[in-house]
Amino acid sequence: MNIQNEVKIIRSARKTMTLQIDAGGSLVVRAPFHVREKAVSEFIQMNQEWIIRAQQKKREQQSKLERYRKQPGGAFLYLGKEYIICETKARRIRLIEDRIELPEGTDPGRELYQWMKKQAGAVLREKTREKADMLGLMPHGISITQARSRWGSCSGRNNISFSFCLMMCPVEVIDYVIIHELCHIQEKNHKQPFWRLVEAFDPAYKEHRQWLHEHSYYMDIMQELQDMHS
Ligand SMILES: [Zn+2]
Repeated sequence: MNIQNEVKIIRSARKTMTLQIDAGGSLVVRAPFHVREKAVSEFIQMNQEWIIRAQQKKREQQSKLERYRKQPGGAFLYLGKEYIICETKARRIRLIEDRIELPEGTDPGRELYQWMKKQAGAVLREKTREKADMLGLMPHGISITQARSRWGSCSGRNNISFSFCLMMCPVEVIDYVIIHELCHIQEKNHKQPFWRLVEAFDPAYKEHRQWLHEHSYYMDIMQELQDMHS
């Protein structure tokens, strides 16, 4: 792919240049007003390797996202397992083996979105209460949000929130996020004592954190569903 053909340059009152690959795979350069065209080209040249790798990664993610189209035959993720969407005469959504069955004649995207929200409410609250007991760290409140930028958060007043996107992740990863947020009740930052506390309850936390990092595109799967139905 010829990188030069797909460059968008955005000038602003910033101090440094940065590169980004947008959803369409185009290169976006953010640059200060005063930087010359030539310096921008040099900056791009210098980072060729990064750009090619990042564009490749974006293409891979894009093709993964296509698998998750919300219609019969599409794939659907629930608790780390992939199901194929099928229509049946059943009255409500059912998970059977590797299929997720939807009632015929309904809007698959809407059904799946509502169902996922309901599951998230039940599963994430229950799990959080369980873990809170185990850790001896009680949140002030638990809420399930439609956040697409982060999996969970803990406020200064110990209100804990989880994104319902978490429902796509494997159970051990969900547990890690819950433990992570509960540990913030005791440690408000991400310094050493915090990670030691997390590790005490999830010895494989590094692996789980890495998994989330590599699967941030799951949020995009949900975003598409949400944009259609909220
Ligand atoms: Zn944190």
